[in-house]
Amino acid sequence: MCTTCGCGDPSGTRVGVVHQHGDGEVHLHPHPEVGRPGDGATRTVQIEHDILGRNDALAAANRSWLAQRHILALNMMSSPGAGKTTLLERTIREMAHARPVAVIEGDQETDLDAARIRATGVPVVQINTGAGCHLDADMLRRGLEALAPADHSVVFVENVGNLVCPALFDLGEAHRVVIMSVTEGADKPLKYPHMFAAADVLVVNKIDLLPYVDFDVGAFHRDVALVNPTAQVQHVSATRGDGLDAWYAGLRAV
Ligand code: MG
Repeated sequence: MCTTCGCGDPSGTRVGVVHQHGDGEVHLHPHPEVGRPGDGATRTVQIEHDILGRNDALAAANRSWLAQRHILALNMMSSPGAGKTTLLERTIREMAHARPVAVIEGDQETDLDAARIRATGVPVVQINTGAGCHLDADMLRRGLEALAPADHSVVFVENVGNLVCPALFDLGEAHRVVIMSVTEGADKPLKYPHMFAAADVLVVNKIDLLPYVDFDVGAFHRDVALVNPTAQVQHVSATRGDGLDAWYAGLRAV
C-alpha cells in the first residue's frame, strides 16, 4: 500500500524519496521522514549518492566512447526559451559544412525541437524524459547508440530546459555550455549558482533585446565572476547574428 503520497495504491511501495507503483509509474514526493534526523534522512542521502555514483560511472564510459571516436560532445543547458534550439539551428546552417554535426534533443514531451533540427538536414534523436527534469548519462548512451554519430563529428546535446537538475548530472560531454537570455534577468547567476558554476562557456543570448529589457550587464558580469571566474562569456543574438563569429571560433578551437 502506498502510504507516501496518500494515493492509496495497493501495489505501491516506498523507495526512499520516490515511490514506485505496481504499473511502473514513479511518483516524486518528499518522503515523510525526509528532513528528520535519523534513518529516513540517512537513506535519502544514500540513494542520492548511489544515483549520482552510478551516473558518473556511465558518464565516464560515454566520455571514453566519444574520445575513441574523436567525437566532441557539448552539453547545452538553459532555462526554457533561452534560445538553445535557435542557436543550434543557425550554428548547423553556418558551420556544419566544416565538420559533421549531429544532435540529441532532450525535452519532457514532444519532438518539436527534433523536427526543427531535422529540417537543417543533420541527424537528430529526440529523448523524452516524461516527468524527468534532466538528461542523464544512460539516456545519452542510448541516444548515441540510436544516433550513431560519425567519427570526428560534433554532437550537440540539448538538455531539458531548466537551470537546476541538469547541472547535477555529468553526461560524459567534453564541455558544458550554459545559455541564458537577457530577458531572464541579470540575477540568475546568484539564484542558480550550481548551473552557472558548471559552465565552461556561458552564452548570453538575445542581446538584440537589451534596449527593451532591464538587464544590468555590469552586475551580471560581477556575479558570474563570483560563481565561476573561469567561464568564457560570449554575448550573441542567435536571430540577428551578433557575436556568432566568436561562438564559431570557439567551436573550431575545441
Ligand atoms: Mg529547445
